[in-house]
Amino acid sequence: MKEFMQQTFAIIKPDAVAKNQIGDILAVTEAAGFKIRALRLTQMTRKQAEGFYGVHRERPFFGELVEFMTEGPCVLMCLEREDAVAKWRETMGATNPANAAEGTIRKHFAESVGRNCVHGSDSAENAAIELAYFFAGSSLS
Ligand code: GDP
Repeated sequence: MKEFMQQTFAIIKPDAVAKNQIGDILAVTEAAGFKIRALRLTQMTRKQAEGFYGVHRERPFFGELVEFMTEGPCVLMCLEREDAVAKWRETMGATNPANAAEGTIRKHFAESVGRNCVHGSDSAENAAIELAYFFAGSSLS
């Protein structure tokens, strides 16, 4: 990876996969300047989802979140560009699509604050942790 490049971890969540929106979301992603460095379709196990969202364990919506993330397949991705973490959060839009800016993925594709079609790491540190969680053993170069 070139020095000025950064990687982030992204998910196309089960709601969007079920609605056949993988292609549309990937098109927006590439148009926003991201290179897709890794991509895998998988259905998360309960254990994986609980581990991934461990920081939210005490939140009232934790059970609902784990149910949602395991209800069907999702797309796991490593995305790369300059300032990837911040740019992907900008491209996704606010957690609640009602508050998301025009032109963002969540504004266009998300149903609700829970079923909000995409995930993105919130810091470079968490991006590294999340990429290792799902792409351990693969070469992300
Ligand atoms: P993100 O970084 O924008 O994804 O937002 P958070 O880290 O705050 O929350 C993680 C995920 O939990 C969100 O993307 C939603 O899928 C889910 N979530 C957040 N708030 C709520 C809520 O109030 N209700 C439900 N059902 N899910 C929520």
